[in-house]
Amino acid sequence: MTNATTPTQDAAAREQDAKALAGRLSGQVIVGGRVTAGLTRDSFAVENPANGEIIGSAPRCGAQDVAHAVDAAAAACPRWAAVPGRQRSLLLLEAASRLEAEAESIAGLSSLETGNAIATQTRGEARTMVDIFRFFAGMANEAKGKTVPLTERQFLFTKRVPVGVVGAIIPWNAPLMQTASKLAPALAAGNTVVLKTAEQAPLAVVRILEILQQVLPPGVANVISGFGEEAGRPLAEHPAVRKVTFTGSSAVGAQILHYAADKIVPVTAELGGKNPNIVMPDADLDLAVAGIVQGMRLFRQGQSCTAGTRIYIHADIYRDVLDRVIAEFGNSRMGNPLDEATQVGALISAEQLARVERYVAMARDTPGARILVGGERPADPLLRRGYFFLPTLIEGVPSTSPVCRDEIFGPVATVTPWTDFDRVIAEANDSPYGLAAVLWTRDLARAMDFIDRIEAGFVQVNQFSVAEAGIEYGGVKLSGIGRELSPESMVEHFTWSKTVIINHGTPGA
Ligand code: ADP
Repeated sequence: MTNATTPTQDAAAREQDAKALAGRLSGQVIVGGRVTAGLTRDSFAVENPANGEIIGSAPRCGAQDVAHAVDAAAAACPRWAAVPGRQRSLLLLEAASRLEAEAESIAGLSSLETGNAIATQTRGEARTMVDIFRFFAGMANEAKGKTVPLTERQFLFTKRVPVGVVGAIIPWNAPLMQTASKLAPALAAGNTVVLKTAEQAPLAVVRILEILQQVLPPGVANVISGFGEEAGRPLAEHPAVRKVTFTGSSAVGAQILHYAADKIVPVTAELGGKNPNIVMPDADLDLAVAGIVQGMRLFRQGQSCTAGTRIYIHADIYRDVLDRVIAEFGNSRMGNPLDEATQVGALISAEQLARVERYVAMARDTPGARILVGGERPADPLLRRGYFFLPTLIEGVPSTSPVCRDEIFGPVATVTPWTDFDRVIAEANDSPYGLAAVLWTRDLARAMDFIDRIEAGFVQVNQFSVAEAGIEYGGVKLSGIGRELSPESMVEHFTWSKTVIINHGTPGA
């Protein structure tokens, strides 16, 4: 890992622009088409994780703000649902174009508040955000029912009906992509939305919603900020919220399911992962080495639910592959997320850094475990001002250890040599999670065997890509319920089905 030393001029200018935007959006939410300070008098600070500087603030919304935003969304609902699908489609396409025009500044602001590097994460994430809006804009007329032959006298058809007000709660790790994944299908299907941002990264999302207001009728897309118990919970519990879509930790996902259960409302929950990444001895090792690094999601400092954090490498190639992965780490540059040359940024917060350090300390204290690379913060004093942590591989951790079982959400993976395929599959499946899983092999039969046996919702062979528009995404077990990003998931999760039978009799009878 090489470190950034002096910031480039380019990074300094970009940082200044992002800070100006953060300042302008500070202390604001958007309700009923209006940018407002909200009803609360309280706010919380937003920090730049790369240096600990306070860059802005956001309203600390509570139940009153939630009620205000839900009322606005409910008021906008009948009119938005009545807009013909083709017209909704055109509006969402226009919104996507306007977001595209601002994509670079949205990416810069997101880098400033998340610590994700612009070159490797937020710029691409902003493109994905635009793409998701375009994709679901095209789906706005696709919430179709079906017809079923019953008898000669009866005509049965189903209609898909928008659910109404959707409550969306997102995390901080990829807020641009999360905002699009929640908003675009919900709006395309004719719903209105109240979205709660994550407390660590609210500002870029407010900017996205501000742009959407240029095109969408007031109240269709609303955004509030605040803490989980204070703002997220009343949103999920609000009686007028008829669907909750959540991405975050499994523990909070379970709580959200409880809140929604009391009012019998469906929930989509995209939760954590502890994903196996298995390398066969016959794999193309160039691909596998790159895939291990990409799988660790270092462009988000490992803060990704699909990160491949349990790496199983066949014993015959174990040392060779590890040496090459460690060499790759050495080539990636850590530094100011707004610097074009930076590939790896900072963890989101002091709290997240402490969590990562806690797990690494636990590994250090485990008899037989060894830190092969990383395991600490970088030495560069400039980076010590922020929440940077070196990419870390740990060997010799028993599969029962929390280091192997918990989602750490940092640039930390365990590596394990294996020889018996049945045993490695059993170990891969011995996890409370079931989100992503990857196999590297040239043996097609082996790949099909893996696909059949692995317990995961998002399975890849010889690649370790991220989710995108049109690729159905979601997990099993503690990784969640429901799917996102596919046309079917839009219809399934953001509409309900009404069955209609017309008994039209027989002509002339
Ligand atoms: P992470 O560990 O990634 O921060 P969390 O699950 O804690 O994930 O948070 C994800 C989102 O859920 C955030 O917007 C947070 O404010 C919200 N949240 C946290 N606790 C609750 C809760 N009890 N009810 C509703 N939302 C919550």
